[in-house]
Amino acid sequence: MSNLKLCQGPSCHTYHTQDRLKGPKENKTYQTRRRSSFYYGQSNFCSLNCQNDWFYEYGNKAIDHFGRLTEPKHLTEENAWVKDYDWRSSADDSHRHYFVNKITKEQRPLTEAQYDDSNYTLNTGE
Ligand SMILES: [Zn+2]
Repeated sequence: MSNLKLCQGPSCHTYHTQDRLKGPKENKTYQTRRRSSFYYGQSNFCSLNCQNDWFYEYGNKAIDHFGRLTEPKHLTEENAWVKDYDWRSSADDSHRHYFVNKITKEQRPLTEAQYDDSNYTLNTGE
């Protein structure tokens, strides 16, 4: 029971579905959904509806808190590196991981560990 998460949707309890109706027989109420995991919003929401409700309620505050874009970003050679890989099906030939620059099309090899490391980048600009 304690491993269950609550959907973070602020209006989750207002949607009338049978699985939200909980409690003792004479005193059932519609309640926020509880699950061991959710599919939406990094496992915080039971549905896209609940995720959208959260954004409608808190989105502006969240963007202002983490920093609102005030100028367009520009894709340049310095920030155009993205990770990719070629999928290999044979067991003795692992997938080939690499960086590719979206502007110059240059490719540079990556180890799988570098590929998995979300902090590892060749980008030097925003
Ligand atoms: Zn929900």
